[in-house]
Amino acid sequence: MADFEIPEPKEIPVIPRVQPGVMSHSAPFVAKPNFQEPLGFPGELVDNWEDVAVKKLGELTGKYRSLQVYLDSCVKCGACTDKCHYYLGTSDPKNMPVARQDLLRQVYRRYYTLAGQYFPKLVGAVDMSKEVLDDWYSYYHQCSQCRRCSVFCPYGIDTAEISMAAREIMDAVGQGQKYCNEIIGKVYKIGNNLGLPEPALVDTLEGLEEEVEEDTGVKVRYPVDEKGAEVLLVTPSADFFAEPHVDGLIGYGKVFHQAGISWTLSSHASEAANFGMFIGSYENMQRVSMRVREAALELGVKRIVFGECGHAWRVAYSFLNTLAGPFDFLDPKYPVPQHICEVTHDLIKRGALKLDPSANDDMVLTYHDSCNVARASRMGDSPGGQFFIPREIIKAVCNNFVDMPPDTIHDATYCCGGGGGLLTDDLMELRVKGALPRMEALKQVVDNDGVTHMAAICAICKSQFTKVIPYYGFGMDMIVSVHQLVSNAIVLANNEQ
Ligand code: SF4
Ligand code: SF4
Repeated sequence: MADFEIPEPKEIPVIPRVQPGVMSHSAPFVAKPNFQEPLGFPGELVDNWEDVAVKKLGELTGKYRSLQVYLDSCVKCGACTDKCHYYLGTSDPKNMPVARQDLLRQVYRRYYTLAGQYFPKLVGAVDMSKEVLDDWYSYYHQCSQCRRCSVFCPYGIDTAEISMAAREIMDAVGQGQKYCNEIIGKVYKIGNNLGLPEPALVDTLEGLEEEVEEDTGVKVRYPVDEKGAEVLLVTPSADFFAEPHVDGLIGYGKVFHQAGISWTLSSHASEAANFGMFIGSYENMQRVSMRVREAALELGVKRIVFGECGHAWRVAYSFLNTLAGPFDFLDPKYPVPQHICEVTHDLIKRGALKLDPSANDDMVLTYHDSCNVARASRMGDSPGGQFFIPREIIKAVCNNFVDMPPDTIHDATYCCGGGGGLLTDDLMELRVKGALPRMEALKQVVDNDGVTHMAAICAICKSQFTKVIPYYGFGMDMIVSVHQLVSNAIVLANNEQ
């Protein structure tokens, strides 16, 4: 089934012995000119790429103070070395966060510090070379930008930011990643990552309405481009067709229906994901984000709600106002985008949804905290809302819930192994190995507590898990959307909108 060794999940996780270079062969496909150029990058490696790379690095450290501080402040304490799921799953020492940072730091030191200019060997500074570029391309595409290492670093050094900067430099010299750049191009051309055109979207949603009516006897609407709706729902395009994602979309529709909130999707902003963040490109992140603003204005909505997508929520929560604001045209009661979990949680607390948790009695649930939600955003008005809101929803709609071990959840959660623009088949070995720590934690609650299903609120986590979980002996249908559980438990009434 796999042409690489699948790691053995241990009952008590073990920090592996280093195996230098064991993952040096792992690198994603390089983007061809037709995927590079529409994003404003050179089509292929430019002639003077060493100079361009060094100049771009200087530009980025000048622009982002945090990047320079991260590159200057590591004291090599080693606290981060065993915190990355890719190191734990592969045992390649260049997947230790500090070593990954050093790939960029060594060039920064050479060109932008006095010691590196005069005594390069003494401070581990090196010239920009093809060997360095190849290492960057390989190992900065073995970082899912999950930020787990930064939680354990006494200086808060964020390797994700360094990895984004490295990818931005590689795009600037003409060596971008095919998967991310092709997807961003599809959003510009068609409106979503899947390349699903408007007529296909309309068809899909009509089909969904019929399916829900057949199942429940209630006409729940899944509208698109409906002017004057109160809410614009921006959701990952995976929600439009694939399981378990689509079951979550069915759930959002039922929540809005039951609460009597009018809502619509948009064919212009039919994608919540924003891969501009993964490649570190502010310009592309902004271009993708502007579609949300344009759609909201065009449709005249009063609220913007994001569906279950981890990094999209990070962009919405942390950056959207800067990228595409101000959102002064929204209802002052909802001046910033909300997460669908905030909407549902609030309705549950107010008793506005009738729920029958026994509808999920065939499952024992656990919950996977997605990195970008857990470590790069919040939910609701209280600290820690991103942890307790999804759990409180699950507990309101399910009778059986068990958390995974404490050092693998909340802000210490392990990445699914496919985030940060790595959810591509050309990185399957990395994805399977990087999932090891999460699989070990899952196995513990399966073996000890009879857990049968794992819920998540991130399209990338759900896609990654359904693909890699069978390598570890679990069934792919073990992964569910949180709003799929809500959908099962909600008792619908005939509210025609
Ligand atoms: S951000 Fe995540 S994937 Fe990247 S080095 Fe840190 S722990 Fe590893
Ligand atoms: S924990 Fe922070 S300071 Fe220590 S080695 Fe890692 S990055 Fe450097």
